[in-house]
Amino acid sequence: MLERIVRWARRKSPWILHFNSGGCNGCDIEILDLLTPRYDVERLGILKEASPRHADVLLCTGPVTRQSRDRLRRIYEQIPAPKWVVAVGSCSCSGGVFRDGYNVLGGIDQVLPVDVYVPGCPCRPEALIDGLARLLEMI
Ligand code: SF4
Repeated sequence: MLERIVRWARRKSPWILHFNSGGCNGCDIEILDLLTPRYDVERLGILKEASPRHADVLLCTGPVTRQSRDRLRRIYEQIPAPKWVVAVGSCSCSGGVFRDGYNVLGGIDQVLPVDVYVPGCPCRPEALIDGLARLLEMI
């Protein structure tokens, strides 16, 4: 019973942490759009959180670079389990336009287990909401 209540609470109020591991900021602006009155994801209980220790979901934008790899891993480890990762934008899904860069390792899944991929360059806020809704179904 208690487990069901915890799962229900988690699904109704996922707190997200956003991290850009080397993208152009285009996808980050789309994430900020989600918080505006037009898209208003807080109506789904989704709250943007500043500390990994309080987050449930890691929203990643940009490709993984040699410089950001360890930081990304450290942030992921600081999020308490259970936790989920969403790759936002083509760079995060596969390396995107930065794929052949000398310092680029590829998509987020080169470093972390990814639960939901949201492609697009930049990904539209509607696609992001769709990705988050898919994630909530998984939770
Ligand atoms: S997917 Fe496009 S908009 Fe998003 S970070 Fe990469 S280059 Fe920028």
